[in-house]
Amino acid sequence: MAEKVKTVRGFRDLVGEEARKYRFVVDTARKVLERYNFEEVILPTVEYAKLFARSIGEATDVVEKEMFVFTDKGGREVALRPEGTAGAVRAFIENKLYADGTYKKLFYEGPMFRHERPQRGRYREFHQIGAEVFGTANPVADAELVGLADEILKTLGVEARLEINSLGCKKCRPRYREALLRYLREHEEELCEDCRRRLERNPLRVLDCKVEGCRRVAQEAPKITDYLCEECKTHHEKVKEYLSALGVEFTENPYLVRGLDYYTKTVFEFVSPELGKTVLAGGRYDYLVEELGGPPTPALGFAAGVERLMLLLKELPPRPPLVVVIPFGGEEVKREALKVARLLRKEGVRTELSYREGKIKKQFEFADKIGADFALVVGEDELKSGLYTLKDLRRREQERLPFEEVVRRLKEASS
Ligand code: ATP
Ligand code: MG
Repeated sequence: MAEKVKTVRGFRDLVGEEARKYRFVVDTARKVLERYNFEEVILPTVEYAKLFARSIGEATDVVEKEMFVFTDKGGREVALRPEGTAGAVRAFIENKLYADGTYKKLFYEGPMFRHERPQRGRYREFHQIGAEVFGTANPVADAELVGLADEILKTLGVEARLEINSLGCKKCRPRYREALLRYLREHEEELCEDCRRRLERNPLRVLDCKVEGCRRVAQEAPKITDYLCEECKTHHEKVKEYLSALGVEFTENPYLVRGLDYYTKTVFEFVSPELGKTVLAGGRYDYLVEELGGPPTPALGFAAGVERLMLLLKELPPRPPLVVVIPFGGEEVKREALKVARLLRKEGVRTELSYREGKIKKQFEFADKIGADFALVVGEDELKSGLYTLKDLRRREQERLPFEEVVRRLKEASS
């Protein structure tokens, strides 16, 4: 046999049940998003690398280490997108979605790429479903977005703990940054190599570092919530108040910073205790649109990791019952069976037309093997009498029925 070519490390096939889980997660989230009047945007998978460097931040793990960057044939530096917000913001600007002066609520879904060490719930190609709200500074929007995320998770039956924090703004964050930097310098030798190297450029990254030593240092660090300006403090208080009004439970984590630099004010994460990982995360990014060349536009959003949600799904709704149409006889029978199968599908019945030939016993074995619930025999007798044999493969019963009655029963079973 020829040598087999395997999938690339960190890339996966979603086959059978896995593919169904994927669709279920995405479709469920999509339905909730559409009820909140979010509109879908379909964005490219490849963008100029500088889009990510400028938005996510040069001194972040995602940009420094995890991006799939390459030079295209025209000599341009492009990247497989590691996340969706940067592209959504670019699209918002490029398509002038700010033109009507209202706010815009967009969602996207699709593959993201990060060169990380693969493990359970961490892949190099993974999928996100994300939502972005452009054009409002109102804390009601923050609360509603978190509430929407909560609703998606509840609808999927996924349990996760919500943590929130505020990262302040241009006015108050520099003061915090100074205080943090002062503290971190005193503990420099306890930090990992990456954090030490990035200390001056991006001290907040230490708070998001997963290395044990850094986590210990982070535990005693100054808290950003002690440094917020009046505006950010009020905003944060309002968000919490509205969340309580919505009945969304949360805990405050003053060290929550997220792995991307563009966040301001509200940040949040839904953490699954079962997985020990974040399943959905987001926050405000009030300067990003402007920083990427658009008009000043406060905005916020989140992204959920589809694979992590798949791992936490308790049950997948069953597929509708399956009927196998079994032609039994000559050419005329085959023509009739083709028509019968098509008609059943038109009526919404999940139908397989058997391509097997030969003994009826073999046909029923085939029907069992593919997990069919019903078999409908189309044979010479059926053509003559107009009565079709419908076999209930679960109950092991069969009846001869006029075609309309067959359709009626199968439709009923399918609804
Ligand atoms: P983590 O801390 O687990 O690395 P992150 O902070 O890098 O996550 P975000 O950039 O906020 O993650 O992305 C949002 C969500 O996308 C995460 O909460 C997670 O569910 C999912 N996600 C991120 N990276 C991966 C990955 N490599 N494989 C699978 N899912 C991922
Ligand atoms: Mg990460």
